[in-house]
Amino acid sequence: MERTLSLIKPDGVKKHVIGEVIRRFEKDGIKIVAMKMIHLTKKQAQGFYAVHKERPFFNSLTDFMTSGPIVAMILEGDGVIERNRKLMGATNFKEAEEGTIRKDFATDIEQNVVHGSDAPETAAFEINYFFNSFEIPG
Ligand code: ATP
Ligand code: MG
Repeated sequence: MERTLSLIKPDGVKKHVIGEVIRRFEKDGIKIVAMKMIHLTKKQAQGFYAVHKERPFFNSLTDFMTSGPIVAMILEGDGVIERNRKLMGATNFKEAEEGTIRKDFATDIEQNVVHGSDAPETAAFEINYFFNSFEIPG
């Protein structure tokens, strides 16, 4: 059974689509095994997106990620990393498939509603970045 980290980004919370995003996960048979709302500091956002630190959008992205609360979830299911990425749609909402979360709710390449881990290694890192051992079910 695979696990992945999902975030509803500050724009998703502001757009009032927390329930809709969760509904899409549950409708797809994905199980939510941990969840919390947090407001990241700039340092925490920089640590999370450290792989992008050389990119031109790094400062803007980490400002955006600290602009309001986010919802962090651990999702569980067979092939959940790929299934979640499919439900999310392409990074750029203009290229996202019909019916995906980003196609339906993103308004900007940066303000794209959700984050999802992209591989087993990043999923493990990201789950442990957001959740401690008492919050991660065995
Ligand atoms: P995420 O990692 O958030 O799930 P992703 O894997 O689809 O998204 P990445 O390439 O990892 O996309 O980029 C991380 C995030 O950085 C994007 O989700 C988006 O918010 C922002 N981003 C990516 N490319 C750009 C860009 N060209 N301009 C501004 N922001 C960008
Ligand atoms: Mg990514």
